[in-house]
Amino acid sequence: YPPELVRNFSIIAHVDHGKSTLADRLLELTGTIKKGHGQPQYLDKLQVERERGITVKAQTATMFYKHSVNGDDFSDGKESPSFLLNLIDTPGHVDFSYEVSRSLAACQGVLLVVDAAQGVQAQTVANFYLAFESNLTIVPVINKIDQPTADPDRVKAQLKSMFDLDPNDALLTSAKTGEGLEQILPAVIERIPAPPGRRESPLRMLLLDSYYDEYKGVICHVAVVDGVLSKGDKISSAGTGQSYEALDVGIMHPELTPTGILLTGQVGYVVSGMRTTKEARVGDTIYHTRTSVEPLPGFKPAKHMVFSGLYPADGSDFEALNHAIERLTCNDASVSITKETSTALGLGFRCGFLGLLHMDVFHQRLEQEYGAHVISTVPTVPYTFEFSDGSKLEVQNPATLPSNPKQKVTACWEPTVIATIIIPSEYVGPVITLVSERRGQQLEYSFIDSQRVFMKYRLPLREIVVDFYNELKSITSGYASFDYEDSDYQQADLVKLDILLNGQPVDAMATIVHNTKAYRVGRELTEKLKTVIDRQMFEITIQAAIGSKIIARETISAMRKNVLAKCYGGDVTRKRKLLEKQKEGKKRMKRVGSVDIPQEAFHQLLKVS
Ligand code: GDP
Ligand code: MG
Repeated sequence: YPPELVRNFSIIAHVDHGKSTLADRLLELTGTIKKGHGQPQYLDKLQVERERGITVKAQTATMFYKHSVNGDDFSDGKESPSFLLNLIDTPGHVDFSYEVSRSLAACQGVLLVVDAAQGVQAQTVANFYLAFESNLTIVPVINKIDQPTADPDRVKAQLKSMFDLDPNDALLTSAKTGEGLEQILPAVIERIPAPPGRRESPLRMLLLDSYYDEYKGVICHVAVVDGVLSKGDKISSAGTGQSYEALDVGIMHPELTPTGILLTGQVGYVVSGMRTTKEARVGDTIYHTRTSVEPLPGFKPAKHMVFSGLYPADGSDFEALNHAIERLTCNDASVSITKETSTALGLGFRCGFLGLLHMDVFHQRLEQEYGAHVISTVPTVPYTFEFSDGSKLEVQNPATLPSNPKQKVTACWEPTVIATIIIPSEYVGPVITLVSERRGQQLEYSFIDSQRVFMKYRLPLREIVVDFYNELKSITSGYASFDYEDSDYQQADLVKLDILLNGQPVDAMATIVHNTKAYRVGRELTEKLKTVIDRQMFEITIQAAIGSKIIARETISAMRKNVLAKCYGGDVTRKRKLLEKQKEGKKRMKRVGSVDIPQEAFHQLLKVS
């Protein structure tokens, strides 16, 4: 397949607009997977993806499709040429826009899928600009036209007014009934340009993704930009300087299919004896050892927006958790991990995530795929503090900020985001109230059409990390769509809020809050904690403090009876059962000082902002 017969494209859309379903239909239409293969969303391989119905890891599949381009003359009985099409499915959620831009680097065009009833949503806007800025050809697809509330004409008008896309270019489809699907691949071939690389030039491959396979070792997904890669070639990484041999080379069709060769413009996989995915830096350039090439522009490195501590729920399990995290980060290199010690929780890890969903997915995978039991601390964002001696401290864990610093804090900065919110106009009032409570600053306000409003805000990242999206959804009856990109740090009046149990500060419960909210948060936190910490044999006091000033206090009175007292001298099995039950309940507990704290307590902390 010479480059003229290759097309690399991606499907981008707001979450739930039908990308994965559409990808399935295209794979079926080209016979790449069998119809009714029993697993919807073929490309969503992870268990979390199936359960949550979201795509987390971008996946690639190669298809073959016969098509005669207009103007070609096949009158002499020549068959229409077969094209090699690489489809790269992308996640739609904000947290994973890093994966989206990565996928786009291997593409010349995209299908921009929009739900015919919902119209343009926040992630449609974000994804459109990612593709637009990369100079990709955009093929608009209005999907779900089978729905009774579908209004394709309205969506066409939105595409025109928001993105200046020609309404006549939009394809109307239903991935459910199959209507209109036959137009998609011809449009891909005719409108999206062939990959531009040169076959005669020295090999340059872009490393798109990598994952670890038990049997084969590290498998790298690559896009061959220039030249040709053959099995047995000696290759080197521009990023690490390491050299390897291409032991296995092929395409994803849709499973790994060895071909022994990858030509200019193709997307495929290489196995090269790398031992860990740390060697496979995403965005790296790979070339033939002994040639010298200009490295390709890489990707901007993933930015960690949310940090949280992970501790084994049962103190002895540190090694097991360590092992599980190592294995999982082999497949999710976008998480940063450093070891940390907490006075309250012992040995654990500080993990940096791209966003809250990313964090949730990481936790879920850790438990489901690696059987780990963890206690996770309240997520926090990275702050910068400056002290009177001029020194600065980057705080990824509130516990590292001294509660009574020797040097006075002279300034603090917090990260902000630029948020895009799209809502039906009747919800403007409540949404404005919500964003002002969250210290938002309006940047833009306009109408998409007569019913929908588009708003842009600068918001402190901290304020959206804590339950913002759920709240936004609930005050707009689920109609709001939301997306954000990270922006600059801004100065803010921040204080550290400590939680003390029986007079002892619990480092893992410390948070950093805006000064104006500190009292309310302190009060709500102590009240919440009172409801989730069980009574114990002694009285427990819960206090919130700023520096040495106590701002809120609650007490949990002592339990009167021993759990076992009820069956004293009684039935032994019953006693054992009770002990078992107690042990079960303790699984997600941590003993801090002498107080047992359930994981639930940390979740409650998250709900107060
Ligand atoms: P993604 O988040 O963009 O990947 O969306 P999915 O492909 O997971 O689809 C989201 C939901 O919309 C699923 O329940 C699909 O079955 C449904 N869906 C996808 N395409 C269509 C369509 O053309 N018509 C209708 N009625 N539903 C669809
Ligand atoms: Mg999907």
